[in-house]
Amino acid sequence: MHTLSISELAEGLRARRFSSRELTQHYLDRIAAHDRALNSYVTITAEQALLQADAADAALAADNAGPLTGIPLAQKDIFCTQGVRTTCGSKMLATFVAPYNATLVDKLQAAAPQGAGMVMLGKANMDEFAMGSSNETSFYGPVKNPWDLERVPGGSSGGSVAAVAAGLAPVATATDTGGSIRQPASLTNLTGIKPTYGRVSRYGMIAFASSLDQAGVVARSAADAAYVLQAMSGFDPRDSTSVDRPVDDYVGALNSPIKGLKIGLPKEYFAEGLDAGSRGLIEAAIKQFESLGASVQEISLPSSPLSVPTYYVVAPAEASSNLARFDGVRYGHRAEGAKTLEELYKRSRGEGFGAEVQRRIMIGTYVLSHGYYDAYYLKAQKVRRLIYEDFKRAFEKVDLVLGPTATGAAFKLGSKTDNPVEMYLNDIYTIAANLAGIPAMSLPCGFVDGLPVGMQLMGNFFDEARMLNVAHQYQQATDFHKQFPQGFK
Ligand code: GLN
Repeated sequence: MHTLSISELAEGLRARRFSSRELTQHYLDRIAAHDRALNSYVTITAEQALLQADAADAALAADNAGPLTGIPLAQKDIFCTQGVRTTCGSKMLATFVAPYNATLVDKLQAAAPQGAGMVMLGKANMDEFAMGSSNETSFYGPVKNPWDLERVPGGSSGGSVAAVAAGLAPVATATDTGGSIRQPASLTNLTGIKPTYGRVSRYGMIAFASSLDQAGVVARSAADAAYVLQAMSGFDPRDSTSVDRPVDDYVGALNSPIKGLKIGLPKEYFAEGLDAGSRGLIEAAIKQFESLGASVQEISLPSSPLSVPTYYVVAPAEASSNLARFDGVRYGHRAEGAKTLEELYKRSRGEGFGAEVQRRIMIGTYVLSHGYYDAYYLKAQKVRRLIYEDFKRAFEKVDLVLGPTATGAAFKLGSKTDNPVEMYLNDIYTIAANLAGIPAMSLPCGFVDGLPVGMQLMGNFFDEARMLNVAHQYQQATDFHKQFPQGFK
């Protein structure tokens, strides 16, 4: 059952080949058998899942169900879930139970027709406050890559991808501030999409860098991703940056022919730094797109070398402000026995936040401080505009931009933890899309020494339907995305 696609699962539920309860139990059994090796879940919500499954079975029996009703999922532990703790990968929120659901959680899990009627298996592990590229900053321990347990699954949505890649959930939610959907999808052979900024509500999603944060989905195919993105997108009056615009028909667009599609290859993305094996696979994929009727041309995104330094000013600045609320008074961990208010703040934050989060808060506070604001923060905002203009120019010439997602395949656990700058450089190809606000996705394009490699598609604002369509057509012609890690079959 755990190798079936979303549409096959939906079909099986409708044909009564299995019930949602049976399907849910199957996944819970797989989690019990395999998650000790992976650590992909922080919290498993077995009891609640079976109740949701029963409700879904009743809806299916009454013909009151949508396409996703009764299908299980994992929720990244950054989304508030009423009555179930939301840790955000941090000790700070180890016991935090939100009194409400994130909008996305309601949309996916409320019963049809208000919601999709999906079944939550649990909350997926993640880097602390979504800061990281390897899922090694989680207070709840690192997540392992199902393709090689000595390697990282990528981050920050490492739990989401490990769970889906190993068949411990059919699909999972994730978030992407600088690459946290695409880079881990690339490292685990999944398809992950970060939609346009504002397409999916951020209400109830714990904020890291609000102008960059965007929710999305990781799945085993573009078609699976299309079903879930369809259900989670849309305007939300409770998020002031949510865009009031109808959601396109992502599922309906999957089978459109892609003949005549114009693909741009940014020369900066194929320069030094890209591992040779990955480059070869991406070049083969480009040929595949050409044989499907697309044309390719070289383009330039001249400001791309500036994206990592720009991001590491903007993101920590916003993080330092967002994380100020965790003060030991209103939320989360409170130090014991503090004698003064200042001591309470200092000790609660010192004990509750891990090293990477503290590093980001310090950088953010520094770049926003009087005397440095103009030199760093203001400058970064100006460069951010240049990065956006690069894409604007590119999309006057081409429909989609194609390049690598990551510099190479999954790296060994511990191999980059001592060098934050090396870790940050992992996101060199993904960060620009967040700074510009455009949609971007990663999809599998082959293997190097048995490890999966993904490629990235970037699209114009609100062009998710076309991106998923193009990815789906590629997946109809290739079978990389169908490969499953040996140890988890
Ligand atoms: N790896 C990047 C960082 O550490 C991006 C994380 C993300 O997208 N949430 O900030």
